[in-house]
Amino acid sequence: MVGGGLVGLTTALVLRHHGVEVTLVEKRATTSPQPKARRFHVRSLEIFRGLGLAEVVREAARDLAEHDHMATGHTLAEARQLPLWQPSGSGDPVEISPELPCLVAQDVMEPVLRQAAEDAGARVRFQTELTSFAQDADGVSAELHDHRTGEDTALRAAFVVAADGARSPVRSALGIDRSGRGAIGDPSVNVYFHADLSDVVRGREFNLCKLEHPALPGALASVDGRYRWVFMTGGEVERDWPALLRTALGVPAPDLEVRSVLPWQAEMLVADRYSDGRVHLAGDAAHVMPPFAALGANTGIADAHNLGWKLAAVLSGAAAPALLDSYDAERRAAGWFTADQSSRRTWDATTAPDPTLADPFVLAAGAFQYPAGAFAGDLDDVEPVTEFAPAGRIATRIPHRWLDTDLSTLDIAGPGWALAVADDPQRWAADGIPAHRLDADFLAPGEGLLIRPDDVIAWRGTDPTTPATVREKLLAG
Ligand SMILES: Cc1cc2nc3c(=O)[nH]c(=O)nc-3n(C[C@H](O)[C@H](O)[C@H](O)COP(=O)(O)OP(=O)(O)OC[C@H]3O[C@@H](n4cnc5c(N)ncnc54)[C@H](O)[C@@H]3O)c2cc1C
Repeated sequence: MVGGGLVGLTTALVLRHHGVEVTLVEKRATTSPQPKARRFHVRSLEIFRGLGLAEVVREAARDLAEHDHMATGHTLAEARQLPLWQPSGSGDPVEISPELPCLVAQDVMEPVLRQAAEDAGARVRFQTELTSFAQDADGVSAELHDHRTGEDTALRAAFVVAADGARSPVRSALGIDRSGRGAIGDPSVNVYFHADLSDVVRGREFNLCKLEHPALPGALASVDGRYRWVFMTGGEVERDWPALLRTALGVPAPDLEVRSVLPWQAEMLVADRYSDGRVHLAGDAAHVMPPFAALGANTGIADAHNLGWKLAAVLSGAAAPALLDSYDAERRAAGWFTADQSSRRTWDATTAPDPTLADPFVLAAGAFQYPAGAFAGDLDDVEPVTEFAPAGRIATRIPHRWLDTDLSTLDIAGPGWALAVADDPQRWAADGIPAHRLDADFLAPGEGLLIRPDDVIAWRGTDPTTPATVREKLLAG
């Protein structure tokens, strides 16, 4: 693993969950000092649930537990909460996930994942930089530089996952270009500051508050809801930030202290290849997108989940290396989808939503149908995106339904495969694939679903002898 950000750490956790030996190198001395990502959608929480981490993540998210609303005002002092959005689609609202989304700042989340990865047995080496690598038929030889000791060492690995960020030195070394819309909108500035504003926001807590004061229009993001804030705006980097912030907040904030000023540019770019031989890109190394739909890290976490079981299956000999071709086919399509959706949105919660955009629940649940990849059957039944209407279609995440008090359909696969079936499970259980009885509106009598270790439906049909054959065929690539 190259990179100890959200995606590298999650990949290490997924690989350990599958019993794979993993060394993670990160050139920085610490996890991210910047709060950056804060919204983790239900699909990421489902993945953390599968890794046994949902509770620690929820605990880390405690500070922002009541901060789901958007807000708007001339200044913070005058701001009001906006109502929460509702899912589109007809019929009774269904529970979309066994998990709730959460808000937790990246600088709080990364140490949680780092600790979990170490506890799970990953060798996590911070202050260690990958300086070069070369691959051959049997593996990858990497040169590492230890910034603490100044020592250079060599490491041999079967595969490399490059979660080394948007500038990805590994992607550059492989000569992989990126395509997409490029820069979106004007350059932005994030001002991270501390100020005790708990009395000002009490009773109208928010995730993001759009402030319209002409001196400093922008959006204020809650980092811990009390003391830590990020103000996102445009314009010059060098300005009298304390004075401007006090004006936009509309309160004296005597203890206000600016911690960092970070210029950034929203971009939409997706790598033209996610894999090159034994090296695979994940996270921002593979795709960058504007943060307006909070999908950057969430898409990377789903990359890790998809790649992890495939690498494990190849390493254990259960699958042929050709299975890994499906990583590019599936996740590059998903990267394009989320990057496109993100670049057609803004943070302006007051404008009416564009009906041609994907339903927010589709994005939150990762309810995206892979157009090609490791599944069997045709895709005549197309998963819609402008409404959230999952129906157990092939190449989509299995819809959540409770099978038992605390057992969701999303709990039955991973690290292994599973079956969800409409009739007697004993009729189906074959070759070590456990079958679970599922009484769901989207399953016809006698039907069964074969679920991959990453909760994706690989096959749907009525013949109980087929799933084992399908699994073998998919593993053979
Ligand atoms: C303002 C803002 C708000 C955002 N909000 C959200 C949000 O709400 N939800 C969301 O999902 N996403 C959000 N994002 C996006 C999210 O922050 C990124 O998608 C995410 O951090 C990417 O994680 P990563 O692990 O892929 O890359 P990074 O976090 O960039 O990590 C890459 C790591 O690789 C290391 N590295 C690089 N080269 C080497 C090398 N040669 N050797 C060793 N280590 C190396 C780097 O030091 C770095 O730590 C936001 C982004 C911004 C800017």
